[in-house]
Amino acid sequence: MSLRLTANAAKVGCRTRSLLSALGPSLTRFLPPRYTGAVWKAVGGRGERAVVVTFDLDGVVYLGDTPIPGAIAALNELAGAGHSLFFLTNNSTRSRQFYADKLSGMGIAVSPEQVMTSAYATGLYLRSIDASGKSVFVVGEWGLRAEMEEAGLRVIDLEDPAPADFVVVGLDRDLTYAKLRRAHEEITVRGARFVATNRDATYPMETGEIPGGGAIVAPIECSTGVAAVTIGKPEPPMWRHILERTGVQPEQALMIGDRAETDILGAKELGLHTALVLTGVTTPEMERSLADAHRPEFVLPDLTGLPELVRRLEAGVRG
Ligand SMILES: [Mg+2]
Repeated sequence: MSLRLTANAAKVGCRTRSLLSALGPSLTRFLPPRYTGAVWKAVGGRGERAVVVTFDLDGVVYLGDTPIPGAIAALNELAGAGHSLFFLTNNSTRSRQFYADKLSGMGIAVSPEQVMTSAYATGLYLRSIDASGKSVFVVGEWGLRAEMEEAGLRVIDLEDPAPADFVVVGLDRDLTYAKLRRAHEEITVRGARFVATNRDATYPMETGEIPGGGAIVAPIECSTGVAAVTIGKPEPPMWRHILERTGVQPEQALMIGDRAETDILGAKELGLHTALVLTGVTTPEMERSLADAHRPEFVLPDLTGLPELVRRLEAGVRG
């Protein structure tokens, strides 16, 4: 069997069932019991397959601007087979169109509607609490500012003395003390609500890790004593939005990520199937010592074996 994966069978309570014997021995023993008796609802729209596949980007599909070997071919194979693919990133610095263009430039045709960023999800959250028309001070980059404007908020510049109703924070590679001070004052003096796009401690680049959005949120929480509402993974908003849009149940979706404490933890808590890929921040040594809450159903060395995994999952889904 060419499928290269390992699964944490003990954790997910996997067992072989006769119903799945046609799947072959290597994957059958990794399938959790909930596959076996479920009545699966057909997936509407153009993605006619029963399994929706969701991906993290950095460390899964690419590192910086470099595609990870095997990833684009696997994505094209899944798309060609009719699976709905979605991409979720905690990176708040760019727009959905930017990521669609970046992926398309790497050889996989993707529309902005298939991309969910923590900045876009933060905009959806703010709309959901009727924040349109309110003001926001942004500690972040242009992608986050653009999404705030798209959500109908007025972005307050550092030089603008007008008070802000919200302080929204993401990765900001031009962070200054003046921005931290303004965010602090808006929250503590004027009572602005504090929203974090994500809490990733680091961000992977070709050259190694750099401080992530969480490293920008932390000093503001430290000085204000206020905990931010967090939108990005492992919190559920991005996955929930995709499930609502596709109309599938969580157990009809698979999440592939490289960071156990966000990609795997959040998807697992919502009931999605999970695969950890070892091309990003998680090394094989780290994977072996993961806490139970962070432990995925499947571990993949890279995405080469993913189409085979999805085929076999779907065969299990359809019974
Ligand atoms: Mg990642």
